[in-house]
Amino acid sequence: MSFWGIVKPNNTSWSWGQILNLRRVIYNMFNYKLGDGKSFSFWFDPWLDGKSIIERFPNVCIKNSEVPKKAKVVDCTKEDNWNLPEPLDHYTQEAWDFIMANYHTTDSNDRISWSVNKNGSFSTNSVWKKLLIERSKVSWNHLIWYAGNVPRYSFTTWLALKNKLNTREKLHKWGTIPDDKCCFCNQESETTRHLFFSCPFSYEVWKKVLAYLGFNRNPDNWNREVSFFTRRGRGKSRIAKVRKNGFCAAVYQIWFARNDLIFNKRRHSCDTIFNKIRSSLEMRN
Ligand SMILES: [Zn+2]
Repeated sequence: MSFWGIVKPNNTSWSWGQILNLRRVIYNMFNYKLGDGKSFSFWFDPWLDGKSIIERFPNVCIKNSEVPKKAKVVDCTKEDNWNLPEPLDHYTQEAWDFIMANYHTTDSNDRISWSVNKNGSFSTNSVWKKLLIERSKVSWNHLIWYAGNVPRYSFTTWLALKNKLNTREKLHKWGTIPDDKCCFCNQESETTRHLFFSCPFSYEVWKKVLAYLGFNRNPDNWNREVSFFTRRGRGKSRIAKVRKNGFCAAVYQIWFARNDLIFNKRRHSCDTIFNKIRSSLEMRN
């Protein structure tokens, strides 16, 4: 299995979990140059000019394609030509056509280089610099990175803001799970927008948090809540900090409750989640 294709287990160690989370950040910092196709995962490595097949063709169903999940690129070739199974639908047809028109294997080894440094070698310093530049470009930057933040809350919220959480909608598209329904309401597709906070379940949690923060209004959609809290969380005042903490804590606790339900079959009530958010705010106040 490719490093990029590993689904993070819920009981993984913290540090391994963080490394797996970081994949989404450092993903675009590598150049994959196809050689003999013996090292690259057919589905998960970004050998199509920086994108993997599942990224470039999200509608292709791995299960129906007859190319196994663990296949290497070389497994789909025969004597330097492509040897792909008969496509069952037009999505797969389109993907195969694209691959055959634009890529071919060669005699040399597959190569991976680090795109951030000019010489192609890896350094942690270059990752850090690149991340700093990315951070300063977005308006919601201060909503998550501020003195006194809770790193795990900020990190989860950051992934949500960049739409990089592995929601069920994405996992379903990638062929990892059979359906994309939200585990809280079992009605709609689980997207970032749905989870925060359109789902009737998280809507209730968020409504309580809003009231606790002194906003007596109904929850709005994700984009509007982000821009509302970006505005109302500006500055270093105590109240601005409480708002930012409240926002990030809510995203983290809802995501945590969602994982606990999916992986451990433990169901949290709206009140339990709200109480966790409230006590985390009171502890830091
Ligand atoms: Zn839902």
